[in-house]
Amino acid sequence: MRILVTGGAGFIGSNFVHYVIEQYDDEVVTLDALTYAGSKENLEGVLDNPRHEFIEGDIRDEELVRDLVADVDTVVNFAAESHVDRSIEGAKPFVETNVQGTQTLLDAAKDSGIERFLQISTDEVYGQILDGKFSEDDPLNPRNPYSATKASADHLAKSFETTHDLPVLITRTCNNFGPRQHPEKLIPKFIKNASEGKSLPVYGDGSNVREWIYAEDNCRALDTVLREGEIGEIYNIGSHAEKTNLEVTEAILDAVGADKALIEFVEDRAGHDQRYALETEKIESLGWEPAYTFEEGLEETVEYYLE
Ligand code: NAD
Repeated sequence: MRILVTGGAGFIGSNFVHYVIEQYDDEVVTLDALTYAGSKENLEGVLDNPRHEFIEGDIRDEELVRDLVADVDTVVNFAAESHVDRSIEGAKPFVETNVQGTQTLLDAAKDSGIERFLQISTDEVYGQILDGKFSEDDPLNPRNPYSATKASADHLAKSFETTHDLPVLITRTCNNFGPRQHPEKLIPKFIKNASEGKSLPVYGDGSNVREWIYAEDNCRALDTVLREGEIGEIYNIGSHAEKTNLEVTEAILDAVGADKALIEFVEDRAGHDQRYALETEKIESLGWEPAYTFEEGLEETVEYYLE
């Protein structure tokens, strides 16, 4: 395969680029605008690899995207504005990258004859669920600007499959953690604060539940869908490791060896979804299952950030 990976200098994208280059003989072209969230440092170790090429550019740049898509057989679209809190402060860049950027890629891909287009999405598009789990057939009910733009992108991608026969697959993964995540996100931020003796600001009463997956497990799942998934299908990727934010915070404090007195409860996020949870039978039917427990992944992650 020759794969165009957009957003490959970000957290999950860079883990995926490393994974593919290490596991296969495939060629990878990484396209990334290097926003505040992306860094070439995340690609250290593959930048000089002859099977990898890095292009700094925007997924909304029609000409660039058309040229790049014409030269690959597979597209994996990670590029996104990804931080919910920032989307509450201002939704515009989220619409521009997550919606318009995805449309630009889809338009380029529809005339290119590519074999697979994998749209990377999130459990957040389903909205919150207090009991039970979301399956791929459930309606979308995004409740914050970030997830609304991701849901838009999912609908656009699916519509290109239906109307243009574009070979689209969609994955919806729960919260990722692991190496190379931007320190604005909960787990790296709390590891850093705990190790520096600073307070750990927990939203509301800390009872919001998220399902956590180690990024390497997610990359294996994405790769499984890319190679084994059925065109036109949507795949949830979850670990069933459900934790309240307070449980995650306490686990980090334990792992770092810091005092629980560092926990500081702060005003809740506006429209804060209470719980996400995914049914995963479909991805498991492709032979995938997570290799790391939450505790094992956290140990690796804490070690990585403390180093
Ligand atoms: P990230 O913010 O770490 O990385 C995003 C990358 O996209 C950055 O490198 C950034 O420079 C790049 N980018 C942003 N706008 C761009 C543009 N217009 N053109 C080209 N590149 C651009 O995000 P992440 O956490 O790695 O998430 C990657 C994808 O996975 C996103 O689509 C996100 O919605 C999805 N996702 C993330 C999680 C999670 O827990 N992090 C969970 C489920 C799904």
